[in-house]
Amino acid sequence: MIDIRRVWRTYSPTPDLQVHALRDVSLRVERGEHVAIIGSSGSGKSTLMHILGCLDAPSQGRYQLDGVDVATLDDDALALLRNRRIGFVFQAFNLIPRTSALDNVALPLAYAGLSRTERHRRAAGALRAVGMGARLDHTPAELSGGQQQRVAVARAIVTDPALVLADEPTGNLDSRTTEEVLQIFDHLREAGRTIVLITHEDEVAGRAKRVIELADGEIRVDRRNEEVEKVAAGHLAEAGPDGPGAVA
Ligand code: ADP
Ligand code: MG
Repeated sequence: MIDIRRVWRTYSPTPDLQVHALRDVSLRVERGEHVAIIGSSGSGKSTLMHILGCLDAPSQGRYQLDGVDVATLDDDALALLRNRRIGFVFQAFNLIPRTSALDNVALPLAYAGLSRTERHRRAAGALRAVGMGARLDHTPAELSGGQQQRVAVARAIVTDPALVLADEPTGNLDSRTTEEVLQIFDHLREAGRTIVLITHEDEVAGRAKRVIELADGEIRVDRRNEEVEKVAAGHLAEAGPDGPGAVA
């Protein structure tokens, strides 16, 4: 699904200074993978996520998303791709103030040519999926941090995107609400979505099947979390054909 080949991202804050935020990064992520990207502050995590999300373009190298070289798309096509194929979750939630949870979540559907009733029906469904079905009319100020982030996750999935990108989604949450949000990401993964999540918390990275560590703009480590794979396999075996997660 994601195929990044020899990508560099170089910033030139002044004419005689060059900062290589990414150096020759190559990465493939298959559909349905759950990847955590870790690394110290300044290692290039957010830069990589902005490129994956088509919010920024490589200085050098190629990015193919679902077989499409994104460099060949114009601004409108990129905007459409972001809106339809990618859901974003940010550390700071980025909800619109004084606007209900329902309207916040319905916003990405504004471009889909759906009636207001249908947009609200889908937004309510996404909010129910993250356990916020009883808070449709609440504004962000009337919700806790964990609840706001769940609304933000609902907004990210309301368009049914194949890829969910999250930059430090639990960075502003305490450990209990972190767990609530992580459970929602577990459900998204079980539903077959591709998830790339940036974190500096071991607890969060430990839930991903694959962990990539960046250091100084390079991939330093790319490992599989075997514990998680075993748990997931056991879970499927226990569940059996009619168990949890089975499609009716
Ligand atoms: P992380 O998310 O891992 O903390 P970033 O991707 O934000 O790291 O940044 C990687 C490097 O690129 C850092 O050295 C940072 O200072 C630099 N950088 C990021 N954005 C810019 C920018 N707009 N202009 C100049 N340098 C930048
Ligand atoms: Mg960052």
